[in-house]
Amino acid sequence: MTPIEKRIQQLNDRQQEACKYISTPLLVIAGAGSGKTSVITTKIAYLIDTCGIKAHNIVAVTFTNKAAREMKERVGQLIQGKASRGLTVSTFHNLGLNIIRKECKTLGYKSGFSIFDQQDALSLIKEIMIRQYDDDGGMADQVQNQISNWKNEMLMPEDLMNVSGSPEEVAAAVVYERYNRYLKAYNAVDFDDLILLPTLLFQNHPEVLEKWQRKVHYMLVDEYQDTNTSQYLLVKQLVGMRAKFTVVGDDDQSIYAWRGARPENLTQLKVDFPSLKVVKLEQNYRSTSRILKAANILIANNPHEFDKKLWSDYGMGEEIRVIACKSEDAEAERVASDIIEQRLRRGNHYSDYAILYRGNHQSRLIEMKLQSYQIPYNLSGGTSFFSRTEVKDIMAYLKLIVNPDDDNAFLRIINIPRREIGPTTLEKLSALANQRDVSLFTACDDIGLDQVLSEKATARIRQFHNWMQRVTQNCYQGNAIDAVTEMIRDIDYEAWLHQTSNSPAQAEKRMNNIWFLVESLQRSIHRAQEDGDEGDIEDAIAKLVLRDMMERQEEEEETDKVQLMTLHASKGLEYPNVYIMGMEEELLPHRNSIDDDNIEEERRLMYVGITRAKRVLTLTYAAKRKQYGEIFNTTPSRFLEELPQEDLTWQGVKSKEDPEKLKAHGQATLSSLKSLLGD
Ligand code: ATP
Ligand code: MG
Repeated sequence: MTPIEKRIQQLNDRQQEACKYISTPLLVIAGAGSGKTSVITTKIAYLIDTCGIKAHNIVAVTFTNKAAREMKERVGQLIQGKASRGLTVSTFHNLGLNIIRKECKTLGYKSGFSIFDQQDALSLIKEIMIRQYDDDGGMADQVQNQISNWKNEMLMPEDLMNVSGSPEEVAAAVVYERYNRYLKAYNAVDFDDLILLPTLLFQNHPEVLEKWQRKVHYMLVDEYQDTNTSQYLLVKQLVGMRAKFTVVGDDDQSIYAWRGARPENLTQLKVDFPSLKVVKLEQNYRSTSRILKAANILIANNPHEFDKKLWSDYGMGEEIRVIACKSEDAEAERVASDIIEQRLRRGNHYSDYAILYRGNHQSRLIEMKLQSYQIPYNLSGGTSFFSRTEVKDIMAYLKLIVNPDDDNAFLRIINIPRREIGPTTLEKLSALANQRDVSLFTACDDIGLDQVLSEKATARIRQFHNWMQRVTQNCYQGNAIDAVTEMIRDIDYEAWLHQTSNSPAQAEKRMNNIWFLVESLQRSIHRAQEDGDEGDIEDAIAKLVLRDMMERQEEEEETDKVQLMTLHASKGLEYPNVYIMGMEEELLPHRNSIDDDNIEEERRLMYVGITRAKRVLTLTYAAKRKQYGEIFNTTPSRFLEELPQEDLTWQGVKSKEDPEKLKAHGQATLSSLKSLLGD
């Protein structure tokens, strides 16, 4: 028996059916931990091994880079050697990036285009608002959000011009139009463009679409409930009339509506593909029955499109602990000491523990406690590696190498390290660039430069330009990594770090980050080469920039560490022991959602959190919490009341109103469970 046959045999009947079904489009809709992702992984191997589809004709899309890496690894275990070469397992944004890179000429972009991150995009929007409208740019955040929504909905500026909206919307639409024009001028795309541009391209160039459809013989999508309009369309376009695809999802885990995700895309499939087959999975292989029951009862409070039952035969398991703490400090203290105690008692690893919370800001206290107990931990989605100043500096150099028209990158590094090029010089250079309609870097080489700048300034600018051109040439003609390393030494960036850091130790740490960045670049080039791509520097840098935006922690090695992350980031993952902190009204559910009457999405978030736990689930809250420098009394989260009270065991101080109220709710939820389980 081949490894893949063996693997399929281990699956239950429904899972097997989902793996082997290829005649029409397939939707697997099922609750958490029922093996949706496992089905995708096994199916990829099955398609290659048994159906004879070539790996390079299969495209699998997942939600995070981490998930993509894991999936590739698992397929690699089932299918050895060359057979899995060329397989595409990526995020939507990575897929879009690949398409844009291959088709950039048709799209009117030069190769080596830049990808603007949130911050770059925000500065540009601000600048437009200030320059064009004499606005203070204070609303730039909202405008950025609005533009992002429009892009996800596939609405272009010209579509908006004739639609009457509020004055704010009309103003935002005007900024949108300018913003897109600037991006084009900078030879840059933003995060949302990575999906939008390929879908528009496919719409407008059927011949290009046909080419891609010929490549994609089978497509698989995980976490389908979180696709937005443009992602939905991209899938639809790529699979075309052939419609060979499998998507898996869980409407109860839709937690990205705020970013334009449309769980309705699940029902839309039936409309767009009448031959759609639907498979439901019901057995959960992750959690104890008690944890599942809690999750089922909680989510039963939301209205349901799809009827789902979820059960597990892992036994009832331990009660769910609810720990009430006096303060947020006590809460963090309690979780940290509890991990030490539990780990000793259970004899397991730190990596068996995950701490989840609603917002990134909640990590600070618990981090401090973990540090003081010397508990190793890994923080996902915290301060980004890529948002560190030194990394941003060198990234800007790299961006300028692949896209000399990236004015943002140019401005960032023109004086880092100091080159005595002052603001007046830059203003004049900028005016010249505007006049000639070229980028700042190109303007550095303009013959008229010495007419607007002093002799000294001209010399400095020219020197920089020539040097940068040499570096670029070395990158493209020789070994790119050597060229980048030489560039970093050339500018003596290390000395610069010593000048700008608080201590030699800090400077050293920052320099290590730079070498880590160079290593990442090298790895990225190697990876591409292994997959049979050219692995050029443009591609490597584009991938780094994208990874930066998508997943902030990325390269952290998976050693024995407690995992800290937001509930959003925990999607798809599982841990034997899970803590959910800050179970308080206004935190979970979040205040904004209470105000917007959007409790259902918060409940789904809680559902995602609960269902990450395999064996032990602990919920904590603080009776007092600091906000805006003041200490407030808190109210325990309504979700605590919605849980089956008979399965909870309380520790610590309870808030006054709790016992009776909770008991009553317990009875109510018990009856809802009974009806759910049908007895
Ligand atoms: P989520 O909704 O959280 O993304 P999921 O539906 O994708 O969950 P998986 O992550 O694929 O579920 O599977 C959950 C766990 O169950 C994994 O540890 C997986 O290895 C295990 N599993 C899946 N199917 C089986 C099976 N047939 N037998 C034993 N274990 C299984
Ligand atoms: Mg999954």
